[in-house]
Amino acid sequence: MLFGAIESGGTKFVCGIGNENGEILERVSFPTTTPDETMGQVIEFFKNKQMDAMGVGSFGPVDPNKDSPTYGYITSTPKTKWRNFNFIGELKKHFDMPIGFDTDVNAAALGETEWGAAKGLDSCVYMTVGTGVGGGAIVEGKMLHGMLHPEMGHILIKRHPEDHFTGNCPYHNDCLEGMAAGPAIEKRWGKKGIELQEVDKVWEIEAYYLAQVVVNLVYTISPKRIILGGGVMKQKQLFPMIRKNVKELLNGYVETKEILVDIDNYIVSPGLGDNAGLCGAIALAKRAYQG
Ligand code: ADP
Ligand code: ZN
Repeated sequence: MLFGAIESGGTKFVCGIGNENGEILERVSFPTTTPDETMGQVIEFFKNKQMDAMGVGSFGPVDPNKDSPTYGYITSTPKTKWRNFNFIGELKKHFDMPIGFDTDVNAAALGETEWGAAKGLDSCVYMTVGTGVGGGAIVEGKMLHGMLHPEMGHILIKRHPEDHFTGNCPYHNDCLEGMAAGPAIEKRWGKKGIELQEVDKVWEIEAYYLAQVVVNLVYTISPKRIILGGGVMKQKQLFPMIRKNVKELLNGYVETKEILVDIDNYIVSPGLGDNAGLCGAIALAKRAYQG
């Protein structure tokens, strides 16, 4: 089986061909410019390729509801050129096959349950902490949508007592994304995260914020595993700090063995590493094919 996979991000599109085992056989990437230009490159890449289905994990907000007239659209994105873009409609004009569509993070969560860190589990959350913060969830084996789809990156958080940064979310200022995404770190400290590796306070504050989303997920979705990916999570020292803060914040209220004895295997890095997004799109294609 061969699947076409698209991971569409705000800065670049990654396209690839993968198989039913989540192996990537071919991959290219294009900068995200205008729908005309970028989609032109995407269509050119997949044209004449042998594929049984396609999958698209996209930056959002998107409309993943199959019964909606705007299913398959990128909807109210701040990237104005892509606003109300009929992504799946455009692909369908060129490729007559099943096409799966979801948020980039729901796709990554699905890929991680198929082949990665949540393999064998019917539930997990995948969060990315990069240019933005976002999360996708698998609940009872299915990607979670609900009214729209989760927007976990924008939850409200308690401020660290030593943090006076105003926050940089254009909608909420000091929501999680506004305080903890890569650009927030850079704005608060005047340097990129990667250059701040040795500055302990940076990661102490970062872990304090990320632990809060983990705790809120434990209380709401109760996922069986939480996977933290994205550029900022390359700072591996964050993991033990987040786990410690999570235990402190829970304060004994949730007494599962996952939290009490095995938290190292509860809050983890992506098993698929930097391929989580593209493998997620392959997993979406596989699901679309299976119907
Ligand atoms: P995107 O979210 O655009 O898909 P990334 O997940 O790579 O891309 O996130 C990019 C953000 O992560 C940038 O703000 C960058 O400064 C930050 N980042 C990337 N690598 C590191 C690193 N090793 N340490 C800390 N921050 C990093
Ligand atoms: Zn926000």
